[in-house]
Amino acid sequence: MLFAKDAPRENIVVRGARVLDSLEGVDATLDIRVDDGIIAALGTDLETNAHHVIEAGGLLVAPAFVDPHVHLRTPGREDEETVASGTAAAAAGGYCAILAMPNTDPVVDSAATLGSLVEAAHADAQIPVGFLASITKGQAGAELTEMGELADAGAAGFTDDGVPVASAGLMRRALQYSAVTGRRLALHCEEPTLSRGGQMHEGDVSAELGFTGYPSVAESLMVERDLSLAAYERQPLHLLHLSAWESVQALRRARAEGVAATAEVTPHHLCLTDEAVRSLDPNRKMNPPLRSASDRTALIEALKDGTITAIATDHAPHARHEKEEPFEAAPFGVTGLETAFAALYTQLVEPGLVPLATVLERMSAGPARAYGLEEPRIRVGAPANLVLLDLKASYRIAEETFRSRSVNSWLLGETVKGKVRATIAAGRLVYAA
Ligand SMILES: [Zn+2]
Ligand SMILES: [Zn+2]
Repeated sequence: MLFAKDAPRENIVVRGARVLDSLEGVDATLDIRVDDGIIAALGTDLETNAHHVIEAGGLLVAPAFVDPHVHLRTPGREDEETVASGTAAAAAGGYCAILAMPNTDPVVDSAATLGSLVEAAHADAQIPVGFLASITKGQAGAELTEMGELADAGAAGFTDDGVPVASAGLMRRALQYSAVTGRRLALHCEEPTLSRGGQMHEGDVSAELGFTGYPSVAESLMVERDLSLAAYERQPLHLLHLSAWESVQALRRARAEGVAATAEVTPHHLCLTDEAVRSLDPNRKMNPPLRSASDRTALIEALKDGTITAIATDHAPHARHEKEEPFEAAPFGVTGLETAFAALYTQLVEPGLVPLATVLERMSAGPARAYGLEEPRIRVGAPANLVLLDLKASYRIAEETFRSRSVNSWLLGETVKGKVRATIAAGRLVYAA
């Protein structure tokens, strides 16, 4: 389900870092030796043989990140992103695997389109990438895709992300097919007759600014519908980019009742509220919108207690001229691959809102588990998927440093703490700063 450029796996020793993998119960200063891409030894004063040695004193090494929600914009908008640029950006962000969304032009709704993406990944992907296919043909919401054929062609899951599956009947049938394919359905929960025309969260700030509101209930109503269908069909599902307190409550209830639902949250929904829209910066415009302080608090609590098990960037590159429109006219979406860890470390970990180990787990094993991918782990015998982090580095986010083809980051000009120094993905050093 994951595809990357064919390249030899490497022999590497990461020396003297603090190694932190909470799921493996490891938190100690250790060397890690990687033989032919596989973690071969953990210990002190390991023989380096003739391996490439990375001196990592003062750095933290954790399982590399997995981003389950990336828009690579190919096919169709290669001016905004490509498999090569998007996976290079992901490597720079500490990721060892990403999943790409199918709302491209054309939509990934046939084995032929999926096949050409798999080919592009074999040619150009710097790190392993998986591709979701659409639930409905053309994401038009009228007819299901050939889900069995798409699964056989390598689809990592199914989603109509960008738009909801508006028909409950079609959604129910998609759940029945997902049982056959064994691939997860991922839902963009939005009730379009409630969100239509909405530019930002409906609340005091939208009223003051005079923008059309996109109410929380537009999300939570669809979350409740999809959870009800999942409960009825006894099928798992994954909820994309939750933003509202009511959605979190619905998910918590459903999970307590035994529904196998997972969910993700973005760094921007964890770090910002609708107050940030007062700047009128089009890089603060996303779907779902930034919500109120109480929504943000609910998302943080859900991340901590494990109701939400995955952090996803919803990396959504846009051409400069499109985002240079006034707020009302600008498209939804911001980039995130290269800034996710720093944003979360600066705004959640440093102020003591979320433990570091929780953020790391929700960026790595959590999202992998949601799609049945192998969890990155730091243990002997596991493939080397490692991120080297400098928690003391403080720096300013600037356009020039992005590997993404787009620069619509909500963090432009901000000073952050926590820097990715190197990424090892599938046994290869794919990024070093
Ligand atoms: Zn979406
Ligand atoms: Zn998306």
